Amino acid sequence: MKMKGFAMLGIGKTGWIEKDVPACGPLDAIVKPVAVSPCTSDIHTVWEGAIGERKDMILGHEAVGEIVEVGSLVKDLKVGDKVIVPAITPDWGALESQAGYSMHSGGMLAGWKFSNFKDGVFAEYFHVNEADANLARLPEGVEAADAVMLSDMVPTGFHGVELADVQFGDTVCVIGIGPVGLMSVAGAALRGAGRLFAVGSRPNCIDVAKAYGATDIVNYREGDIVEQIMDKTNGKGVDKVIVAGGDAENTFVQAITMLKPGGRIGNVNYLGSGDYVRIPRAEWGCGMGHKVIAGGLMPGGRLRMEKLASLLETGRLDTSKLLTHRFNGFEHLEEALLLMKDKPKDLIKPVVII
Ligand code: NDP
Ligand code: ZN
Repeated sequence: MKMKGFAMLGIGKTGWIEKDVPACGPLDAIVKPVAVSPCTSDIHTVWEGAIGERKDMILGHEAVGEIVEVGSLVKDLKVGDKVIVPAITPDWGALESQAGYSMHSGGMLAGWKFSNFKDGVFAEYFHVNEADANLARLPEGVEAADAVMLSDMVPTGFHGVELADVQFGDTVCVIGIGPVGLMSVAGAALRGAGRLFAVGSRPNCIDVAKAYGATDIVNYREGDIVEQIMDKTNGKGVDKVIVAGGDAENTFVQAITMLKPGGRIGNVNYLGSGDYVRIPRAEWGCGMGHKVIAGGLMPGGRLRMEKLASLLETGRLDTSKLLTHRFNGFEHLEEALLLMKDKPKDLIKPVVII
């Protein structure tokens, strides 16, 4: 059987293609999308060649879907179930998973399969490996569009907060308040941050950052962000920094400089170009400042999805504030993806309901 999908044809080229519907292994599921969202990573993949050349690879890794087929060994899911699909779908038997780093199962970043090593979710059907371990049921009463933000935006933004190890009362700075950084703001607030700086410039992102708990906005277009933050903290700086945007050349210099000794940086920004990241020697305490730089790909899998879904179910987190552009119908996928590329000022995140 054939299906349609929206694909990367090669670096810088996209288009609709036809492919065979994927086959279902014994532990797997075949899912049809109910709601999907394009990601800044799709843009890095196609237009910046960030993961290298890919030919006729269907894009997309953020979806809520409905199961149309399950493998013979799948126990907890059945045809017709609505599920949240994480962007990262690890191989749970891999040694990296046993070591606690499932996102790197099979090699560095290899838990990221959709629109990387295999076809993604912008298709009539897509394949999910290890369905019982990777898919979470969509709870009753949670909108599919809101739940798509659990695939990638929430777990990535929250992982930045985990990597920075935000504690009650910490002074925190989130650099970048696109959808990922906004979820870092929300996550830092949930983890008990005290003063919470958010760095961005677009007015609607700033409004949403405040709604998620930012106490101070720092506009990087209005002057050096380190100076602005040092001014506002009487020269002390911050306890934790989460990097969710900015240019790779300068963000670490800024993050390390604004950090107090003993502080931590949680990076979830995708550093797609250049060979090196700069670390300022003196500001890093000449190597002795106890300023930790942690960077990581979001954790995926069912347990993470179930736990994050409970935040939507209980109303502790409202992801609908991210959804500035809604489309109805599969045919609008291309339009939604191009919005992510062109980034109009009022855009945070588009969603396509199918
Ligand atoms: P956006 O492009 O929507 O947001 C980027 C943010 O950075 C905006 O707030 C922008 O400000 C801000 N920014 C731009 N330039 C600067 C600068 N010089 N200094 C400070 N801030 C700046 O990206 P997303 O939120 O969609 O994604 C963020 C990153 O996370 C991307 O690199 C993406 O690839 C990555 N990512 C990582 C994942 C992971 O698992 N680690 C998964 C998914 C995404 P404004 O627009 O307001 O001017
Ligand atoms: Zn994504």
